[in-house]
Amino acid sequence: MTKPTTTNTGTPVESDNESLTAGTQGPILLHDHYLIEKLAQFNRERVPERIVHAKGAGAYGELVVTNDVSKYTKAKLFQPGARTESLVRFSTVAGEQGSPDTWRDPRGFAVKFYTEDGNYDLVGNNTPIFFIKDPIKFPDFIRSQKRLPGNGLRDHNMQWDFWTLRPETAHQVTWLMGDRGIPKTYRHMNGYGSHTYQWINAAGERFWVKYHFKTDQGNEFLTQAEADRLAGSDPDYHRQDLWEAIERGEYPSWTLYVQVMPVAEAEGYRFNPFDLTKVWSHKDYPLIEVGKWTLNRNPGNYFVDIEQAAFEPSNVVPGIGFSPDKMLLGRVFSYADAHRYRIGTNYAQLPPNQARAAEVNSYSKEGAMRYHYNDASVPVYAPNSFGGPHADPERAPDGGSWEFDPTMVRADYIQHAEDGDFTQAGTMVREVLDDAQRERLVNNIVGHVLGGVREPVLSRVFEYWKNVDTDLGKRVEEGVRAGLNGS
Ligand code: NDP
Repeated sequence: MTKPTTTNTGTPVESDNESLTAGTQGPILLHDHYLIEKLAQFNRERVPERIVHAKGAGAYGELVVTNDVSKYTKAKLFQPGARTESLVRFSTVAGEQGSPDTWRDPRGFAVKFYTEDGNYDLVGNNTPIFFIKDPIKFPDFIRSQKRLPGNGLRDHNMQWDFWTLRPETAHQVTWLMGDRGIPKTYRHMNGYGSHTYQWINAAGERFWVKYHFKTDQGNEFLTQAEADRLAGSDPDYHRQDLWEAIERGEYPSWTLYVQVMPVAEAEGYRFNPFDLTKVWSHKDYPLIEVGKWTLNRNPGNYFVDIEQAAFEPSNVVPGIGFSPDKMLLGRVFSYADAHRYRIGTNYAQLPPNQARAAEVNSYSKEGAMRYHYNDASVPVYAPNSFGGPHADPERAPDGGSWEFDPTMVRADYIQHAEDGDFTQAGTMVREVLDDAQRERLVNNIVGHVLGGVREPVLSRVFEYWKNVDTDLGKRVEEGVRAGLNGS
């Protein structure tokens, strides 16, 4: 026997197909509460989409530690042999919920680890760097990449206006316009923690650290022409690919590495190690293997597990801390704030966000949709005399501690010997890319600029790329001028 349809509170309903009406011609009666419940629920199915990273896909998996990095961190999830359940959400950045997966854009690479000391979230991208280095520029940057307020259209001129007025974007724009600006699938791209974090070992020694997830599937990309075709024929191409690969049992994996910098070396390093527009050269800080991270389980329900997944860089665990990376510090505030707005005060109770092994002994209470509560004997305030939980600095992550200049200023980072907005973008163009990759980079930039960039922004675009690399800049200018002249 099939199960009876019920209301949300479990009462069997009379009909799935006909509303209650006065006579066969109607009108519909207000006390058909099942009809009202059905329509009202439908009207409320959406939560606000994320302002950035709205379109995504995700899966569950596991990190297995294969190396011994205990001399750098006491974090339990990184101890030899540790296995930790994990959730990832991949995404595009600027597009909306229904936007094509294959637009040229960085990809979000947000990972949650359900550790025995609480959730640890590494909320990164598929690039080790970002467009800006101060969170005060974040709303400006994102608005310039989205839509014009009047006609609601995306606008290349607005994008290049911002990029060329803020030259610290050059390194990330070089990535974006290059091959890795459109990964073939989510499986064929690297992930990066991007920010500089802190690791603390059992003896209390501190290190600066950067995370790299290198894809075991190999880095592969789509050309602009392939991506444009797929954007029309299969806008969910990346979401589908990830789902189907996991359903087939072809579990994608990444090898997790870190770069580790002793704290004493930070001040003298040739690039400011906290500036998110810069990498630490692999030659200076080689990758150290940590473990294997594998995705092996599709979400049971896309909305519940992925749309409601709430990643927040503020989630750190003992052995891991923050750094003076200003973008990281801005994000430590803003992610939890965004979740409270988007999915409600009690978002941490939702299934993908619940701590698994760790006990949750927080003093937070009530608020919309609350269903987790402590035993009635546990006081709801601290301090108290009745055996309620108490803060223990010995067991807490030491997130906020580092040596710093206590003067409060609004300033750029101290420039190290080889810092400069264009230095590393130029190195990448000259020393990392081969001729064919450079050719595609030029073509991608030219194609993008011909999508509507006008003077005075246009001249700044040529100047920008000549600053990255003189020859590349000339080729961009020639290509754009030829395109504008219709040749
Ligand atoms: P290395 O030569 O040691 O490393 C270069 C890195 O570039 C490799 O890890 C490679 O990653 C990656 N790479 C290769 N082709 C491309 C491409 N088309 N687009 C993006 N990345 C690519 O150099 P350095 O560490 O001294 O850095 C030099 C430049 O390389 C930097 O300015 C930066 O732009 C880029 N880079 C640096 C990274 C870092 O963390 N140091 C990470 C990635 C890029 P893979 O092994 O995955 O192919």
